[in-house]
Amino acid sequence: MAKDLSSLQDNQIYIDEQGIIRHVLHGRQTAGTIVAMREANKPLVAKFRSEGKRVAIFIDLSEVKSTDSATRSQAKEFLGTDFDAVAVVGNRYLRPIVSYVLRITGVGTKVHYFTKATKALQWLSDPKAGSRVQSGLIERLRRISVSGWVILIVLMLVGFSAYNSWQQAQDRLDNQAQTNFDKELTSLHESLKDRVQAYIDALIGFRGLFDSSNAVEESEFTTYFSSLNTLNRYPGIETINYVRRVADAKGNDHYLVTYVGAPAKTVSKGTDRSLDPVWLATLQAARDSGQPTASHTIELATKDSRGDQAKGFVVTVPVYRHNVPGTVDQRREQLTGFVNGIFSYQNFFKAVFNSASSQNSLRVIDESRLVYGQGDQTSIDVSLTNMQPLTIAGHSWTLDSRVPVGFGLTATEQRQIRTTIASSIIVATLLLMLFWQQIRARDRTLKLADAMTEDLQNERDEAVATKSKDEAILSSIGDGVFVLDEASRIILFNRKAEQLSGYVSSEVLGKHYNEILKFGSRDDPKAQHDGFIGRALGGSQAEMAHGTILTRKDGVVLSVADSASPVFDADGKQRGVIVVFRDVTQQEQLDLAKDEFISIVSHQLRTPLTAMRLFSEMLVKKQVGPLNDKQYEYMQRIQLSTSRMIRLVGDILNVSRVELGRVRVVPEPTDINELIQSHIEELRPMADIKRVTINFTRDSRQAKVNLDPAIFGQVIHNLLANAIRYTVEGKGAVDVSFKEQASGHVLVVKDNGIGIPVDDQPHIFERFYRAENAIAVEGEGTGLGLYLVKLIIDATGGEARFETKPGKGTTFYVTIPEAGMKAKKGEKTLS
Ligand code: ADP
Repeated sequence: MAKDLSSLQDNQIYIDEQGIIRHVLHGRQTAGTIVAMREANKPLVAKFRSEGKRVAIFIDLSEVKSTDSATRSQAKEFLGTDFDAVAVVGNRYLRPIVSYVLRITGVGTKVHYFTKATKALQWLSDPKAGSRVQSGLIERLRRISVSGWVILIVLMLVGFSAYNSWQQAQDRLDNQAQTNFDKELTSLHESLKDRVQAYIDALIGFRGLFDSSNAVEESEFTTYFSSLNTLNRYPGIETINYVRRVADAKGNDHYLVTYVGAPAKTVSKGTDRSLDPVWLATLQAARDSGQPTASHTIELATKDSRGDQAKGFVVTVPVYRHNVPGTVDQRREQLTGFVNGIFSYQNFFKAVFNSASSQNSLRVIDESRLVYGQGDQTSIDVSLTNMQPLTIAGHSWTLDSRVPVGFGLTATEQRQIRTTIASSIIVATLLLMLFWQQIRARDRTLKLADAMTEDLQNERDEAVATKSKDEAILSSIGDGVFVLDEASRIILFNRKAEQLSGYVSSEVLGKHYNEILKFGSRDDPKAQHDGFIGRALGGSQAEMAHGTILTRKDGVVLSVADSASPVFDADGKQRGVIVVFRDVTQQEQLDLAKDEFISIVSHQLRTPLTAMRLFSEMLVKKQVGPLNDKQYEYMQRIQLSTSRMIRLVGDILNVSRVELGRVRVVPEPTDINELIQSHIEELRPMADIKRVTINFTRDSRQAKVNLDPAIFGQVIHNLLANAIRYTVEGKGAVDVSFKEQASGHVLVVKDNGIGIPVDDQPHIFERFYRAENAIAVEGEGTGLGLYLVKLIIDATGGEARFETKPGKGTTFYVTIPEAGMKAKKGEKTLS
């Protein structure tokens, strides 16, 4: 989602896909990145990945309250996981914005701000944090895995119990169906038995007709047949007829159809049934047993509903002369005929099975041939079958009964299984979705882990590269550099430092610098003179004092110079000190040679100059004769220039003597009031010429101060002379005082003169330096006076400084230690 930032309105935060947070307030844009987030306690490190598919969000600060949960969750989704600590890189304007974003999202409380990404990355690549990354991710993966396993187990349990309850329901319903089927079969057989019995009883009834009369007329037979309403009462019986036994001449029996109950449906009277083997077998069996006997399948004279020859069977009841005789022989001998019931399979079974369930598909089989069928036998999903013999009058058919799945079950009962299955599927699907989500979460976490590992690797590589670069730069610096931590231990020691000190870094790293690096002073080589490091550790930059020396590992002494500076982190907290130093031994030697040369030259110049001044003075005073006006004027100029030259040479000589360390300092208890007063008096004529008033506030203690009067006198003289010279003629006022302060004895020389311009202030104690405004007021001057003051005061343990307001005046303060000036050996004094 590209966003035109110019459309950002006031007080809106916009976080883009790269994780750059932008904010506009009063038309000013700020931007920054949350580089890294780290959980502090339950540690996890994550990083905004520029290629990450985060959705950009846009928050209007004027509308969003910190309680706005919709925005919170939106932002939280954007930011990702909860974090206890967050690293942010950006300028200070970003801080309130980031803390706002983090507050409304609630993702982190501890925010670490870094101005440089490398610092944030260092924090991130802290080895402890690194291991925490892994452990955090592993913990997360473990949680995901555990919940994944739990879901999987629940899924299996649900599956198992669903299968179980489905199985149980199925079994129960199967049993129920079986019971229903059993009931159906029992009731079917009951009704079959009752019916068959009723039919046979009817046939036996006919036999009774013959039993009761020796000669039954046809009309009697048909009347009885009609009176029974046989065809209606006994559906399936096509007709009942009577077959008479007739013996032929050879004594063979013939069974002739004699009376016919329903003529239209039967064969014609007179048909000899003994000619039909099925009939004959049935009749003979009935004759011998004396019992009603059923035949095999026979073809009927009628057609069935499909127009085929109808099939059926006969039940024959033998009729004897006197009841049913006891033996077979008697039965054969006394047989008179048979009452036959002709049954149509179709009609008979239809009537008999009319109470059967419509779901029950029934088939009757006679000697493997299907003779009757009802119900749909092909399309039903058969669940239960039953094959049973069906015996009627001694003949057995097979009754094949089939019922469908869930036979006799109610719709609710049948739905039970479907409901069980459906609900199981729903639960299982939900669980599967959960499981799938877990798998995806795991995948994502793994990817995140990969990405983070890669990121960390890259960042570490970058950090290492940066570090190597830094180290390379430091190594190649021509000056010695070493860095101390807060505890003054050496944490970095560059190559030049190794060369200068004679130590290698492996010897010095981690050690207190004091143990290794002996910084002394040329005047006092034994003691440690490392005040500059102490001042840097105290937070301010400090130059090494003039004459600082370093004793190398091999004992050789080097003159060194440069400085120590405090090192601060992004939060402004001091982290240590960096010291830069270089070997100035050669330079010092050169300076020494030069100073010696100057010293000699100036010394040599002084004698002829003094002579020149003496002689010019004699001429001006006309001690050797008169001069004309021109000669007098020129002589005066020569005298003035010579005096100036003598002063200059004197100054140069003094400076070179102090610089060469040849001046001896012999402090003695001195009446400071008197000393100052004498210098005031010395300069009074000059002050009078310029009409400058000098006000001296005497030291009330009247104490004697331990100092070298000649040398300190030079200081007083120079400061006083400057104060007079750099005031405006006729308006000048100079205040001189000497007081006791906490820092020591202080000489204060205050004037209301021209002051020192700001640009010149840093250079005022330098050799030959003169400010422009001073040159304008006072053409004459050497620029050596203050330099000498500074040299003297530094060498004797004091301090010189000034306060000034250009155009308003200047105050010089010279402090000498409480105990007085430090003594110093030397062969010369100041001139
Ligand atoms: P000089 O006075 O010979 O020029 P100094 O070393 O005594 O040399 O002084 C150096 C410079 O410091 C002066 O040239 C002048 O610019 C400045 N300066 C010294 N003292 C004062 C003062 N009291 N008021 C204003 N400027 C001063």
